[in-house]
Amino acid sequence: MERNDIFVVYGHNEREMTELLLKRIGIESLIVDKNTSIVLKPNLVVARPPEEGATTHPNIIEATIIHLQSLGYRNITIAESAWVGDSTDRAFKVHGYYEMAKRYGIKLLDVKDDQYVEINKSGVPIQFSKTVYECGFLINLPVLKGHCQTTMTCALKNLKGCISDRSKRQFHSLGLNKPIAVLNSVRCADLVIVDSLNGDLDFEEGGNPVQTNRMFAGRDSVLVDTFGADLMGFEVRHIPYISLAESLTVGSTDISKANIVELNNDRLSETAKPTGKVRQLAKYTDARSACSACYGNLIHALARLEEKGSLRRLNKTIHIGQGYKQTAFEGLGVGICTRQGSAFVPGCPPKALDILRFLEEHL
Ligand code: SF4
Repeated sequence: MERNDIFVVYGHNEREMTELLLKRIGIESLIVDKNTSIVLKPNLVVARPPEEGATTHPNIIEATIIHLQSLGYRNITIAESAWVGDSTDRAFKVHGYYEMAKRYGIKLLDVKDDQYVEINKSGVPIQFSKTVYECGFLINLPVLKGHCQTTMTCALKNLKGCISDRSKRQFHSLGLNKPIAVLNSVRCADLVIVDSLNGDLDFEEGGNPVQTNRMFAGRDSVLVDTFGADLMGFEVRHIPYISLAESLTVGSTDISKANIVELNNDRLSETAKPTGKVRQLAKYTDARSACSACYGNLIHALARLEEKGSLRRLNKTIHIGQGYKQTAFEGLGVGICTRQGSAFVPGCPPKALDILRFLEEHL
């Protein structure tokens, strides 16, 4: 896998999707020594099940462990810390990590209990988990989701779980953006595998999951976050830590140079019943057999439109789904399936950012 590669898979079986990604990545070309200490860093910010849109699905972690062990890697640690005030131990229990660690003979580390390497870079003091900082290969497994303070969270911000609670508080007092960028310039992930199955619409803690049934992987955390921002309908310039990380040579925001490869075509996974805020946004849509990723991207675009205060001006229904393939209709469509509408966003599936721009043009 090259640094500008981004591999995307769709589906409803997290284990198969993870395996498909890992096979294509070719881990053995990235980790030559089988004794390398490998750290897996999921997102367990709160003790809530993955269906709520906040935490990495444990099946992704388990499939990764199985894949690594099948290749002969034995020195594997899962490392994470819940946010300040919540218990990592509870999150480990809710997600079955203790059983998983026992089953596969791997180490489980609550970063809150680890020793720290003290670093001060560019005015940002960091107590970095010694285990993570010194590991031979760091696999970051974040959730792509909204965040009330930093707009979005994915690869770069997920590494905040590798520092002490004291550092987390300091990061917040320093405004998060610069510290997140600096943190990644100190020790960045070597590989990122993103759980984009049903990340939350706008909140790190979950509660409004948006079903997209998608995962993607890359080696460049900045590029991965740039791609994630596109998928959620955010302009990178509105998420300062991504460009700051680029300025610190963590990676590139130039998505035009990314090699984006879709590994399968399994997009028509069942769309979950929208709940809460997502159900409100769904009222603007008329979906007929819409693929989850396509529909999820539309929901994100509608949410961004609402955040900009423009949604109330959208007095049209948005058509989406394979059910429109053979149907000419008056009105707006999303995705190549709706090409027979009056106007449509091309793509299969189109990114939320493209949908957002299209909707703004047609308000
Ligand atoms: S354009 Fe049609 S086939 Fe493509 S993702 Fe959307 S609904 Fe599915």
